[in-house]
Amino acid sequence: MPSDDLTLDAFRTKAAAFIQASKANGIACRAFGAIMPPAMHDDAKAWQQHMFANGFAGVSWPKEYGGQGYGPEYRLVWSEECARHEVSPYMNFQGFVLAGGAILKYGTEEQKQKYLRATLAAEILWCQLFSEPGSGSDLVSLSTRAEDHGDEWRMTGQKVWSSTAQLADHGILLARTDPEDRGHRGISFFLFDMHGPGIDVRPLKQMTGDQEFCEVFLDDAPAAKSDLLGPLHGGWGVATSVLADERAEVGAAGIALERSTQRLIDTIDAGTDPVHRDRIMRTRVKAGALRQLLDRSEGDPKLGPLVKLGNTEFSTERTRTRLDGMGPAATVLADEQVVEDFLYAPGMRVAGGTSEIQRNLIGERLLGLPREPKPSTPKPR
Ligand SMILES: Cc1cc2nc3c(=O)[nH]c(=O)nc-3n(C[C@H](O)[C@H](O)[C@H](O)COP(=O)(O)OP(=O)(O)OC[C@H]3O[C@@H](n4cnc5c(N)ncnc54)[C@H](O)[C@@H]3O)c2cc1C
Repeated sequence: MPSDDLTLDAFRTKAAAFIQASKANGIACRAFGAIMPPAMHDDAKAWQQHMFANGFAGVSWPKEYGGQGYGPEYRLVWSEECARHEVSPYMNFQGFVLAGGAILKYGTEEQKQKYLRATLAAEILWCQLFSEPGSGSDLVSLSTRAEDHGDEWRMTGQKVWSSTAQLADHGILLARTDPEDRGHRGISFFLFDMHGPGIDVRPLKQMTGDQEFCEVFLDDAPAAKSDLLGPLHGGWGVATSVLADERAEVGAAGIALERSTQRLIDTIDAGTDPVHRDRIMRTRVKAGALRQLLDRSEGDPKLGPLVKLGNTEFSTERTRTRLDGMGPAATVLADEQVVEDFLYAPGMRVAGGTSEIQRNLIGERLLGLPREPKPSTPKPR
C-alpha cells in the first residue's frame, strides 16, 4: 500500500510501477471509458479487486471507507498514469464517480459503511437510473414514482439508457415522492437494490453492435426506507451534484486526447491528399487548444460543460476525419477499432447531457446570459 507521506512524484512513480507490473502479469484491464462493455466485466472485476488489494482503489476516498485518504491531486495522478498505460482507472464509473461521490457527500454514516468499501472491492456494481423515455434533457419532468408503504418504498415507472444495468447490483434512482409537485421539489434520490422483485431489465442494442445500456421497467419494486439518500423530496440537489461530477470527470482525458490525435497524425504519409492533410492539421490544432482547456479545468465542476462539450465534439470530429482518410477501405473494416470508435463517438455527445444542453449551461452559468425561456412559462403581457 502507498505510505501516508508519499509526495505526489513518489506516488506517481509507485503507481506507474504497480500498473506496469499488473500489465506484465495480465491483470490490468485495458481502458474502456465511462461505460464498461459487458464482455469486459470479468477482466474489469479482477483488475478492480487487484487495485483494492494493493491500495490503489479509491485514492482520494477516506481510509475508514476503504479508500487511501489522499487529496484529489493524487487521484488525478492515478488517472493520468492509467491513461498513460492505457488501463482503466476503475471498473465502474457509475459506482466510483456518481454513486460513490453522492454517498460521500450526502450519505449517512450507515450508508457510507454499507456501500463505499463494498463498491471499491467490486462487490457492488452500480448503474444510473435517471433518464426516462419522456425525460432526458428535461430530467425534472420524470414520472417514475416512489410510494410510501410504511416499512418500505415501492417504485413504479420506466427508465432508459441505463448503462450496465443488466450487470448492476444497485442503481442510483430518481423517483417522484410527492405526486402533488411536478417540479424538482417532489423528487427523491434512492440507492436502489436491483435484485428485488418487480424489476425487468432489457438490454438495448446500439449501432456498435454492443448492448451497453438497457431499459428498466419497475412495477411496484421495493426499496428499503434506509436507502433514501439525502432529504425526502430533496433528491434534485443530490442529482445536480451527481450530474456536475459526471460532466467534470475528465481525469486524464488530455493524455488520451494526445494519443488519439497522434494516431491520426501517424496516418499521414507521402501519398496523403493535401486537403486531407490540412484537415488533419486543423484537428491537431483543435486538440492542442482542448488539451490546454482540460489541463486548466482540473476537474472544476463549473467548467464541466465546457470540457464535456469540447471533448465529445472533438472525438466525433477526430473519428470522422480518420474514417474519411481511409476512403472506401473503411467500408470493409467492420471489425476495426477505427470503425468502432466512429460509431461510438456520437453517443458521448448525448450521454451525460447533450451538446445543446452543455451550450445552454455555458451560456447561462459561465457567460451569465439570460436563462432559456421555458415553453410552459406564460409570456409577459
Ligand atoms: C451512450 C449513452 C449512455 C447513457 N447512459 C445513461 C445512464 O447510464 N443513465 C441515465 O440515466 N441516462 C443515460 N443516458 C441518457 C442521457 O443522459 C440522455 O440521452 C440525454 O440526457 C438526452 O436525453 P434524451 O435522450 O431524452 O433526448 P431529449 O432530451 O429528448 O433531446 C432530444 C434533442 O433535443 C435537444 N434538446 C432538448 N432540450 C433542449 C433545450 N432545452 N435546448 C436545446 N436543445 C434541446 C437535445 O439536445 C437533443 O438533440 C445515456 C445516453 C447515452 C447516449
